[in-house]
Amino acid sequence: MSTQRPKPCPICKKPRSEEFAPFCSARCRDRDLANWFNDDYALPGPPASPDDVAKED
Ligand SMILES: [Zn+2]
Repeated sequence: MSTQRPKPCPICKKPRSEEFAPFCSARCRDRDLANWFNDDYALPGPPASPDDVAKED
């Protein structure tokens, strides 16, 4: 298994750059960080599991 293909940028799927790996650019890297922060602020409490939601119904 020596045929390793470089993974594309997870944000825009373009070939990634060595400098900004695993992203293709600083813009995509910052965008990924922003997504993380947005998730944190959107979910102040622990996420409810699908099983808990089903039991409450
Ligand atoms: Zn990108």
